[in-house]
Amino acid sequence: MRFDIITIFPKVFRSYFNESIISRAQKRGLAKIKIWDLKKFLREGERVDDRPYGGGPGMVLKIEPIAKALDSILQLRRPTSKSGKTSDVLITFLSASGKQFNSKMAGDFAKKYKWIIFICGHYEGVDERVKSMIENLKLKIENLSIGPYVLTGGELPAMVVVDAVLRKIPGVLGKYESLEEKRHGIGVPVYTRPEIFKWKGGTYKVTKILLSGNHKKIGNWRIKHKIKNKALQY
Ligand code: SAM
Repeated sequence: MRFDIITIFPKVFRSYFNESIISRAQKRGLAKIKIWDLKKFLREGERVDDRPYGGGPGMVLKIEPIAKALDSILQLRRPTSKSGKTSDVLITFLSASGKQFNSKMAGDFAKKYKWIIFICGHYEGVDERVKSMIENLKLKIENLSIGPYVLTGGELPAMVVVDAVLRKIPGVLGKYESLEEKRHGIGVPVYTRPEIFKWKGGTYKVTKILLSGNHKKIGNWRIKHKIKNKALQY
């Protein structure tokens, strides 16, 4: 699966995407992530943002650099279907007012799309016309929010969505069965060695049932403790 991210702060992605499971997924060819610096699509002396029409504080990311960045990204693979519409490409517009992203969407995206392109807003947001421009390209667009709060930029949300989608791709977690939500659900308490930990007068023990070797009882205990949040069960 391919992820392309358009941002004015490309450096912030490096450390996160170059560690642990996400780094391994890229090395093993299960995912390709490319970060596009929006500032590289500016004419000489041009700014990436400008003041909002109608007045008000803050700056708005301009449409032209985004159009050019998208053009370069889409050169990598032109739409192939007869209608010119590619159903396995998604352009994601990150916005606090977007549709709430959740675990089911992450799984659906991993199944449905081969390529997700992200546009990270910053400051006051992105020129609204970018959305109509994408619709004209006949590509699917989703307006996504990662939660009911306002962040300073779309960079963290892009990382969140890439992470959540990527771990749903078979093979990324080592074994597909590694998805804990498939095994026994999210929120189940976990323990590791030592069995008893003594520290500053306190004694901390592993829940007995997990040491019993009785898999049926352990299974029931895990079911009892899992978080009953349907949104996380996918
Ligand atoms: N005035 C803008 C609005 O009404 O949406 C707020 C812009 S916000 C300060 C800057 C950027 O951060 C947004 O363009 C968006 O890309 C990103 N952002 C902020 N909160 C977000 C959230 N909860 N989910 C996804 N993206 C978010």
